[in-house]
Amino acid sequence: MTGIIVKAISGFYYVADGKNLYECKARGSFRNRETSPLVGDVAEVTLMGNSGVIEKLLPRKNELSRPPIANVDKLFLVSSFHHPAPNLYLMDKLSAVAVRHGMEPIIVFNKCDCGDFTPFEEIYSLSGFRTYTVSAKTGQGMEALFGELADSVSAFTGNSGVGKSSILNYLFSNLNLKTGEVSEKLGRGRHTTRHTELFCVGKNAYVADTPGFSALDTHDRDYDFKVNLIRFFPDLDAFSDGCRFSSCTHTCEKGCAVLEAVKNRKVSASRHASYRQLMEEMKEVTAWNGGRKNP
Ligand code: GDP
Repeated sequence: MTGIIVKAISGFYYVADGKNLYECKARGSFRNRETSPLVGDVAEVTLMGNSGVIEKLLPRKNELSRPPIANVDKLFLVSSFHHPAPNLYLMDKLSAVAVRHGMEPIIVFNKCDCGDFTPFEEIYSLSGFRTYTVSAKTGQGMEALFGELADSVSAFTGNSGVGKSSILNYLFSNLNLKTGEVSEKLGRGRHTTRHTELFCVGKNAYVADTPGFSALDTHDRDYDFKVNLIRFFPDLDAFSDGCRFSSCTHTCEKGCAVLEAVKNRKVSASRHASYRQLMEEMKEVTAWNGGRKNP
């Protein structure tokens, strides 16, 4: 049987084949290999009744260590009109991480019942990323967002309070995720349990519920990420071939075609400001120190 690992707890892996869920152990030989199974892995399993043994993992499209998950197709970057207000720098940084890992970033503006997102929609209209403006309270825009989840492994990220759980509860009422209000009522911290888990939300459609996605592994201490950063901003990168110098960092150079595109409003100044801020944040990162000041 071939299925997807939806949950990993204390050495047991729960593998779904679309109809059933099987409790599996990994074959002992995994212990001697570098790769161990991750939630999101597609696994070949030998079944014995309702349980089984994972024999082999299919090649991964991508993997993250924080949170531990593989094969995410779409990363939904959620922000809200207020409480908290959109943090465009964080969104742009996470979108760059998504692009780097071969995940498609999708922008979601939630709580549109509270105000007008037009200025934000304008900023992202040139980004090439699909953008959804929704309200988990009124349901506005939810049908279109629902369509995005088909046939994909999706994950939602964004600051606490932007409405990630509310959106998922609206779309899939059986999920019953805890939202801000509920946990306040219970008077304890949110997301206390928590392991990474994939919920099946349709045929070949899975959504990750993970404690860690708001602290996504941002690789901001990674030399390779730094030197290739422009590639992870595809809307800016589209102009970089026209730069006069091949060493152009697209921040201040003469003859920089990216800066020219910003001036001519062909790309958003806000996206470029995030790119610049990220470059600045990584200025200590070199090939040999991995960003540490005292290696
Ligand atoms: P999470 O931390 O991102 O999972 O956010 P929650 O789903 O827990 O929502 C945080 C708070 O925002 C809760 O009080 C929700 O009721 C509220 N909320 C979520 N979506 C909306 C929305 O579309 N409109 C309004 N007005 N409030 C919302």
